[in-house]
Amino acid sequence: MKTVNHWIGGKSVEGTSGTYGPVTDPATGAVTTRVAFAGVEEVDAAVAAAKEAYATWRTSSLATRTSVLFAYRALLDARREELARLITAEHGKVHADALGEVARGLEIVELACGITTQLKGELSTEVSGRVDVAAIRQPLGVVAGITPFNFPAMVPMWMFPLAIACGNTFVLKPSEKDPSAAIRLAELAAEAGLPDGVLNVVNGDRTAVDRLLEHPDVAAVSFVGSTPIARHIHATASAHGKRVQALGGAKNHMLVLPDADLDAAADAAVSAAYGSAGERCMAISAVVAVGGTGDELVARIRERAEKIKVGPGDDPASEMGPLITAAHRDKVASYVRGAAAQGAEVVLDGTGLTVPGYEDGHWIGISLLDKVPVTADAYRDEIFGPVLCVLRAETYEEGLALINASPWGNGTAIFTRDGGAARRFQLEVEAGMVGVNVPIPVPVGYHSFGGWKASLFGDHHVYGNDGVHFYTRGKVITTRWPDPADGGVDLGFPSHR
Ligand code: NAD
Repeated sequence: MKTVNHWIGGKSVEGTSGTYGPVTDPATGAVTTRVAFAGVEEVDAAVAAAKEAYATWRTSSLATRTSVLFAYRALLDARREELARLITAEHGKVHADALGEVARGLEIVELACGITTQLKGELSTEVSGRVDVAAIRQPLGVVAGITPFNFPAMVPMWMFPLAIACGNTFVLKPSEKDPSAAIRLAELAAEAGLPDGVLNVVNGDRTAVDRLLEHPDVAAVSFVGSTPIARHIHATASAHGKRVQALGGAKNHMLVLPDADLDAAADAAVSAAYGSAGERCMAISAVVAVGGTGDELVARIRERAEKIKVGPGDDPASEMGPLITAAHRDKVASYVRGAAAQGAEVVLDGTGLTVPGYEDGHWIGISLLDKVPVTADAYRDEIFGPVLCVLRAETYEEGLALINASPWGNGTAIFTRDGGAARRFQLEVEAGMVGVNVPIPVPVGYHSFGGWKASLFGDHHVYGNDGVHFYTRGKVITTRWPDPADGGVDLGFPSHR
């Protein structure tokens, strides 16, 4: 059986805690790999390696950093297929989707290649007699990243490329469910010329995370995962004096107005609800059909959803793969099984699906629930599976109020041909990312990604300008080089002359 170790100080390091976790191929249900779980000493070793590397990396020239990043970009570009296969083998998503994940991660490496422009700083000359003021941004030190299972390559790439481009060093704790992609990303960074210790990966569970949260040499923590853990990360790391951005879960709504192109809306709802088996934080999991569009919209969603081919991610014919674990599959199924008793109409029930030849895989088919009451668990919880809830609203206002009453505010979308309604929605909806006739509005790399309410704790979104701000701190330098003719003591408060 393959073993996934840690990556510390530029090399693979075997686990010493004696604890390992299983990594499963979700399509077969077979344990294929064991992953070392770091104890406190191993986390400390990774932080120490990052701290040592920081002493020189922070003063490395921008030219040095960007030349490594450009080489890294080229290596990743050449290895897209390999990375996508690693992702599919441990996460289960279909190959095309895994390739898409790598592409979206690469965007942030490309953004980091252009860090020279982002770190230019500001200068005001002659703010007062012979006084100049400069504003610069400097790295924080050792930064930690803790990432979820659903994007094992992209979410780490949301974080470390920008962090290291800004002059920080990094300790990544990827999901223990699919850790191989993160280790490969670190190996390729070393191959691209990244100095030892600048990027480290420790595998493990809560023990490793909690040590990072309290470690005195960790300056900041980026987290992406579920809301309860995001809340814990934010509270604990903040209490230890660290800068924190903690992105949490979601329940993303799509509002469909009566004038929308219903075929386009149904295409979008099906793609965004069932893509990656619903294991996306930007998945659409609730459609709000406004003003009598519900029956027609549900019919069109059903017609499309029924045709989705579920199968192993490495089969080119598959459109949707299995769920990450059997336990998660069972939890998702319990929401579908309990929905009718809580007042929903079960239009499609995907529970109980098996895929011939892959009987032990973590399968569940497509589920579509209509007329879901807001009190039903299937609506109230983040299911994180291929289950779409449809709700009905009489008016735009009623639909908007429903969306804004949700505890989450990650992404949302409106489908309409009415520019005025779309404009109102953009301004009135309480969510961090809005799509207008776009179902999964994940911002491009040079804008930032982040939600509102229980979808993000902290005040920085990830990547884009917010990412650069998060991984740097500002310094303002006021300088006077007096003319040799100046002089004399002045006890007055400094003011402008
Ligand atoms: P998770 O919260 O279970 O795990 C995320 C990370 O936290 C993992 O590295 C895990 O090892 C660690 N962790 C788990 N329990 C912990 C604990 N008690 N203490 C400390 N660390 C702990 O999330 P997941 O199941 O891996 O990922 C799915 C979740 O992530 C969903 O809720 C999804 O919406 C969310 N997500 C959000 C975004 C976003 O941008 N907002 C993006 C992707 C995923």
